[in-house]
Amino acid sequence: MRDIISSSLYQNALIQLEEAVSSMKADPNIVERLKYPKRAIQVSVPVRLDDGTVKNFEGYRVQHNMTLGPGKGGLRFHPSVSLSETAALAMLMTFKCSLVGLPLGGAKGGVRVDPLSLSRQELQSLARRYAIEIGPFIGPDNDIPAPDIGTDSQTMAWFMDTYSQIHGFSIPGVVTGKPIVVGGSLGRAESTGKGVAFCVNFAYERLNKRIDSSTTVAIHGFGKVGVPAAIDLHQQGAKICAVSDVSGGIYNKNGLDIEAVISWAKGKHLLANYQGDCEKITNEELFELDVDVLIPAAIDGVITKENAPKIRARLIAEGANGPITKEAVDILNDNGIFIIPDILCNAGGVIVSYFEWVQGLQHFFWDLDQINKKLHDILYDAFKRVTHNSDLYNVDMKTAAMISSLQRLTGAMRLRGMWP
Ligand code: GLU
Repeated sequence: MRDIISSSLYQNALIQLEEAVSSMKADPNIVERLKYPKRAIQVSVPVRLDDGTVKNFEGYRVQHNMTLGPGKGGLRFHPSVSLSETAALAMLMTFKCSLVGLPLGGAKGGVRVDPLSLSRQELQSLARRYAIEIGPFIGPDNDIPAPDIGTDSQTMAWFMDTYSQIHGFSIPGVVTGKPIVVGGSLGRAESTGKGVAFCVNFAYERLNKRIDSSTTVAIHGFGKVGVPAAIDLHQQGAKICAVSDVSGGIYNKNGLDIEAVISWAKGKHLLANYQGDCEKITNEELFELDVDVLIPAAIDGVITKENAPKIRARLIAEGANGPITKEAVDILNDNGIFIIPDILCNAGGVIVSYFEWVQGLQHFFWDLDQINKKLHDILYDAFKRVTHNSDLYNVDMKTAAMISSLQRLTGAMRLRGMWP
């Protein structure tokens, strides 16, 4: 287990778990089981590159806990992927699915690769070979992957096709986040960002405020999560003042022309080359802007003890998984900054993944209004439970989210018991 627990993301997740456990006095025998994944699979993913040579990539699928249902969680293609990072993200999925009441456990997968360095054909070979290698361990009844950083609906279509070819018939329920024509759900693509925007609204309600034209927002990471969150908050009247991607950020204190920025970003152009009415800033500078709402929506570990003291936003919505280190959470709490925890804030993605899985299993599809209404209601209910626990146990939102998740999960684990 030493390799599994080695990353700072895993250590952070363990500290969060311990903190919640000591506040709620959870059963130590159950908590002991949650500290480690149920199963971790490591695979070799050989790919023939366009130049004819074969390159081997490292792949993983970690199933953290399956007490509440099949494992659920994304598939990440990124150079930082490791066994420990994947295990930490699988653990967060367990807590996320439990918190929002889904009949699903937690899992995560990934391949250590820079997807931008591969051609489309090479990427397809990688996705298909990874699907073959982890194929024996997944399926609609036991573990269901989905998109995450570096993967998208096309990756899911290749994955579903490969898995289906092996079995001889179409099995759409094996992955979620598929394109609509191959069994995807309406609303899935925007669901994580939409959920973030819903949660910002719920937090404003809790803080007795309203989103209006004076509300200013900065978004770190302008992709699958950041873009739909920006669209919804902008529609509600907020000013999106800054956004950034790997190349850097852009800022206009009166609000960016968000439609123009989105069409620029959707054309796969880097924000550093955007020529609109704005000034160029670095990713670091974005965190320090004087805005109301800061949304880290890229990768983990970006708000640290170094930059946390400089943050001026009043509200941080964790669109990414684990974007704030534990030390930074303590600093932000001391400074009175309200944090919407990742397992709540970005749960919109897995909630609509759950809808997609259910629709796939019953071969009957819902309309968008139905999906967005159910998404809203599930998140609102979870948000209320978290704020209730925050008041009851007198703890911050991160700990309260973990307590809310553990209440359901440990209850189920106790009832199912341990065998043998
Ligand atoms: N990758 C997303 C997450 O971290 C979605 C997972 C899913 O839909 O299964 O929550």
